[in-house]
Amino acid sequence: MEDCIFCKIINGDIPSYKVYEDDDVLAFLDITQVTPGHTLLVPKKHVADIFEYDADLATKVFAKLPELARAIKAINSDIKGLNIVNNNGQIAYQSVFHSHIHLIPRYTSEDDISIKFADNSDLYSAEQYSDVQKAITNHLAK
Ligand code: 5GP
Ligand code: ZN
Repeated sequence: MEDCIFCKIINGDIPSYKVYEDDDVLAFLDITQVTPGHTLLVPKKHVADIFEYDADLATKVFAKLPELARAIKAINSDIKGLNIVNNNGQIAYQSVFHSHIHLIPRYTSEDDISIKFADNSDLYSAEQYSDVQKAITNHLAK
């Protein structure tokens, strides 16, 4: 897609530090390196976000995660874990609208990664959990 920075990287019009490539996906270092080894996995097909994937594309992309995660972990014995983050939509902090999955190695609890989930379980009754469960499963059945 024109004017898409990741399509330009995929096409070789913009340089990147590639770590993996096949017919369907490209993985390259994120320019910001939130922590050393921070990598992006992207489908070569331009899809804006998770809402545009079909199952076949998801299989091709998401199936690469374990091997890539292991390869990143192997670069440094100080890597103790890894966050896999996939932002969808501006409200969810997506800034590049060609879908991508962040693999962010974790070295210490002090790593500057800002997504920390709130615990709202005190606010939910059994009925409220059940209502949300039903709403989602109803839509899956359609
Ligand atoms: P998002 O905020 O959409 O989840 O993540 C977009 C990511 O793309 C950011 O972490 C940003 O550093 C990275 N990024 C943006 N432009 C470029 C670029 O030209 N090259 C590389 N390697 N990464 C980029
Ligand atoms: Zn694109």
